[in-house]
Amino acid sequence: MALDRTKLLAARYRAAADRPYLASAMYSLTVVESGRVPTMGVDARWRCYVNPAFVAAHDVRELAGVWMHEVAHLLRDHHGRSARLPAALQRDARRVNIAEDCEINDDLLADGVPLPAGRVAPDDFGLPRGRLFEEYVAGVPPQPYGHDCGSGAHGAARPWELAGGSDAPGVGDVEAAALRRATAEAVRAHLRGRGTVPGGWRRWADTVLEPVVDWRRVLAGAVREAVAWASGAVDYTYLRPSRRTAAVRGAVLPSLRRPLPRVAVVVDTSGSMGDEELGAALAEVTGVLREVGVRGNRVSVLACDADVQAVSRVTAAADVALGGGGGTDMRVGIAAALAAPDRPQVVIVMTDGLTPWPAEPPAARLIAAVIGPADVPPWIETVRVPSP
Ligand SMILES: [Zn+2]
Repeated sequence: MALDRTKLLAARYRAAADRPYLASAMYSLTVVESGRVPTMGVDARWRCYVNPAFVAAHDVRELAGVWMHEVAHLLRDHHGRSARLPAALQRDARRVNIAEDCEINDDLLADGVPLPAGRVAPDDFGLPRGRLFEEYVAGVPPQPYGHDCGSGAHGAARPWELAGGSDAPGVGDVEAAALRRATAEAVRAHLRGRGTVPGGWRRWADTVLEPVVDWRRVLAGAVREAVAWASGAVDYTYLRPSRRTAAVRGAVLPSLRRPLPRVAVVVDTSGSMGDEELGAALAEVTGVLREVGVRGNRVSVLACDADVQAVSRVTAAADVALGGGGGTDMRVGIAAALAAPDRPQVVIVMTDGLTPWPAEPPAARLIAAVIGPADVPPWIETVRVPSP
């Protein structure tokens, strides 16, 4: 069967006209005809593999929805994000694919986009709407599934795909980043023009366009401020500068007249965190605590892995070992920190944010260093640590 290109491209035209903010990205996809791809799928070079029989069996309206679906895998960097999943999940490409499809289809269905029969949504698995695929994947049962969106979605190479690599034709990483940015700007422009954009795309655009700040400076500032607050130095005595002032770039420390507070650092070791980012965030926090004189037994570090329901105290930040897999519940770690006999006044949580949070502020100053784009309740003081 020959590919009906006219129908396929009419569907793309229709999708671009209906959702103009996705137009540039959809027109950057290269069509590759293949009898082996089950339906339609993409690779990381933005090549879109299309089965002619699938095009023949669906109408232009449904195919327009599939165009939006496939380009969403690439805009949302699903292959990049799936590479940061725990290794055991990365091997389960079908399950990852379903979780990603839930993240995408949720928004498309809310937006009234018709999709072919067999599409999945969070409701199918009793999962809440409006989440990221990293939050869905643990709740998706392993199962056979005919649809396969390709390595552009789940990261695992497929037999119908052309050679990859950084010199392969198609869209490269730099151009992909530019397309994500241009699309996020287009989402904002569409909203300004009183157009509607589903919540998932709005949050995605916010993440892409978030001003790049020096997270180290922000985190250091938050920790310093919390320590000053917790030590009761509300009557900041700036008249007599602290001897440490000179050592602290660009910040004037109040002279602390009361004892220094105790600080607990609760680290998510569930395995969905990047080693490098976590290491950098931990180094920043321990460095600042040393600088302001909070050290020794005033600092406790707790490793928190909900999978094994274990919260362990480690003697030094360098001893935190990432491992585990699956879910995280930082509430367990926060509660363990607060239950200690030497109760801390400041709790610093380091996590990828894919965790339930306490329903209300605990009886301590709480700071979250969050690696990645997950939602955090607005009352938690949050410092974003970008993931690569
Ligand atoms: Zn998909």
